[in-house]
Amino acid sequence: MKLTEHFTLEEFTHSNIASRLRIDNRVPDELMANIQLTANKLELVRKVLGFPIMITSGYRCPLLNARVGGVSTSAHTKGLAVDFHCAYGTPKEICQRLIDTGVQFDKLIQEHNQWVHIGFSPNYNRQIVLTAIKNSGKTVYVNGIV
Ligand SMILES: [Zn+2]
Repeated sequence: MKLTEHFTLEEFTHSNIASRLRIDNRVPDELMANIQLTANKLELVRKVLGFPIMITSGYRCPLLNARVGGVSTSAHTKGLAVDFHCAYGTPKEICQRLIDTGVQFDKLIQEHNQWVHIGFSPNYNRQIVLTAIKNSGKTVYVNGIV
């Protein structure tokens, strides 16, 4: 199902882990508005980056989220966040570009130099910017892009 010019619902629900564990990761009706909002916002992200967005994790039902180690309050469970790659550059370069171009978001995280997490909200754009790093094997979040 097409959500916007460049994004389909399947891109938001696809998960290798969910398939393997036979977890039903379909989006509940009440969260479809959030998914649509996220897709709309991602069109702008795609536009400023100038390359396709490869979503590696979009919506996560609570069970899938728990299985991948996500925090229970994760915006992924509300359909309001995606993890992605983009041929524009490294996660750090992508984050910097989104900040420099004034793209609106609630939370942007440069994750371990491996992917970018971007979260949105229907109510606010807090523009929180974090970098996830490993410290003694545990993930910690530091302010800004490092
Ligand atoms: Zn994420």
